[in-house]
Amino acid sequence: MSDARTAQIAEALTAVRDRITAASLAAGRSEPTLIVVTKTYPADDVRRLAELGVTDVGESRDQEAGAKHAATADLELRWHLIGQLQRNKANAVARYADVVHALDRPGIIDALDRGAAAAGRRILGLVQVSLDQPHVPGRGGADPDDALDLADRIAGATHLDLGGVMAVAPLGVDPAAAFDRLARVAERLRALHPDARMVSAGMSGDLEQAICAGATHLRVGSAILGMRTYAG
Ligand SMILES: *Cc1c(COP(=O)(O)O)cnc(C)c1O
Repeated sequence: MSDARTAQIAEALTAVRDRITAASLAAGRSEPTLIVVTKTYPADDVRRLAELGVTDVGESRDQEAGAKHAATADLELRWHLIGQLQRNKANAVARYADVVHALDRPGIIDALDRGAAAAGRRILGLVQVSLDQPHVPGRGGADPDDALDLADRIAGATHLDLGGVMAVAPLGVDPAAAFDRLARVAERLRALHPDARMVSAGMSGDLEQAICAGATHLRVGSAILGMRTYAG
């Protein structure tokens, strides 16, 4: 595909990659992996991204993600499920997701493990940590004090591997301070699980602060594909 849309995405992608390079240099850190969040955008955009060298794509909802994965199954992409996972979707997600980012309670970890077993696959799981202070139950993300228990549960699951932690900076707070809290949780987790080095943090508006705090994976949507017209 080489049309006006591809050129538009290519330009935005270059701008984001330049931001990542500049922020990594400034922070003295190695460049994180870019996950392009494709929610609300069509499978053809996933195809365009793959042609532009993107290796990792992220989606929020199972139904949309599953359809796009099926439409682009000929591509070698890593699929990240970044949204809240419902228990009744765990089996479906386990068939195509390579990484599931928002594991924040025991039941969902167990359901995903069963789904992965049924699909005959291994899935990388991240503990979603709430950076709300105080913690707001129900908004997504575990209380930082519960994160290590959840990490142990993922590490102990037969078909899951523990990747590390994930968070979304709450609106209206300094993202740098929020990501520093995440970095401290990540450090405690690595002390117990040295291979769990993933820190999934940073979106279109706060990727620089996330890189500064040690993000290894960024989840960037609108800065590359444009403003979404409905919430994904
Ligand atoms: C939509 C979404 C993103 C991407 O956000 P942008 O602001 O479009 O870059 C990242 N992470 C999560 C969890 C999301 O739901």
